[in-house]
Amino acid sequence: MSRYELTVEKDACDGIFACLTRDPRFVEGADGLATIDPDADPIYDCDGDVVDTAERVVATFDDDRIDEARQAAAACPTDAIAVREVNE
Ligand code: SF4
Repeated sequence: MSRYELTVEKDACDGIFACLTRDPRFVEGADGLATIDPDADPIYDCDGDVVDTAERVVATFDDDRIDEARQAAAACPTDAIAVREVNE
């Protein structure tokens, strides 16, 4: 288990949605850009805090799925996604 923060910078996001196929917690938001919805995963019951503003989406999770988040970040062609481990 690790606690980590996922960030999507909306300026950088192009709505290509390579992230969605790597991590189903990424979804298309009302603005046509990527956002994060912990309830969107059809298999796992996720629990996370999400703050979605005009500039960026910041989500914090405490689970064992940081690798999926990192794969989504690696797949993003515009480097809009950042994954950062948070130590408390
Ligand atoms: S892959 Fe990157 S650019 Fe594409 S929707 Fe996801 S965050 Fe946005």
